[in-house]
Amino acid sequence: MGSASPEQRDVDLHLHTTWSDGRWSPGQVVAEAAARGLAAISITDHDVLGGLREGHQMAAAAGVKVLDGVELTADWDGRTVHILGHGIDPGHPALTAALERGRSLMGEHVERVLAALEAVGEPLSAADLGRYRSRYPGGAALVLAMVQRGVLRRVSDGLPLLRLAAAEPRAYTAREAIRLIHRAGGVASLGHPVKIHRDRPLLTIGELEPLVDAGLDGIEVWHVVHGPAERGHYAVVAEALGLLAVGGSDCHGPDRTAGPRIGSQGVPYSAFDRLSASIVARRVANGVRA
Ligand SMILES: [Zn+2]
Ligand SMILES: [Zn+2]
Repeated sequence: MGSASPEQRDVDLHLHTTWSDGRWSPGQVVAEAAARGLAAISITDHDVLGGLREGHQMAAAAGVKVLDGVELTADWDGRTVHILGHGIDPGHPALTAALERGRSLMGEHVERVLAALEAVGEPLSAADLGRYRSRYPGGAALVLAMVQRGVLRRVSDGLPLLRLAAAEPRAYTAREAIRLIHRAGGVASLGHPVKIHRDRPLLTIGELEPLVDAGLDGIEVWHVVHGPAERGHYAVVAEALGLLAVGGSDCHGPDRTAGPRIGSQGVPYSAFDRLSASIVARRVANGVRA
């Protein structure tokens, strides 16, 4: 696989590591990408930038281009959306401050839920949570731990506790997330749009226009939850709205039931090329030397 030129190889622009809820270290992700012959990847952990340095350190030796990224968990009119930021400067003060604020909000949320559980005689330990999300505690980890520990079977009315755990605070709106990514020199794309409305995976151009007005640059066309119909739909939407088509496997490492999905989406090198050009344009617009 080493003989094919980069342009003939695939890329994967959406990957997680142990810095959020993935099971591979950044170095392992880069090594796995190299083993699969990927030309370029982006590490896009949830609301954290800590894995980017290690990814870069491994990149040159592995022969894989690594683009700094992040996946911001944002609020869009009461719904949770994931905004991917590609090409961001991991040291940008406004971005790092916003992420820090988000972490402290989430920390308070976890404390609040743990206190509520303790009050009904069902305390969860750090170990209960750590089994699921050692570095990335949040609503999903709390809900999982509550279910696994059988809390809902013992507490007569557990529903409000579940709702409390699931009601994660959002540190930024989608508009703010896009602006943060832009200020940090990055390009903002809407992650896995099919997940926004559970019952309605194909969002219309009209529905997406407010995000485009807010500065959205791209949208995920390739994603592991997108079948051919979803890919086709969002490719048309991207074209119509003048958005970049981006995508990746959203791999979180080896799965219990299936093999790791890194590199599985067949994202062409041209998507990385166009994204890179857009990042350069953003940096020039920001007045930063590309
Ligand atoms: Zn996501
Ligand atoms: Zn993701």
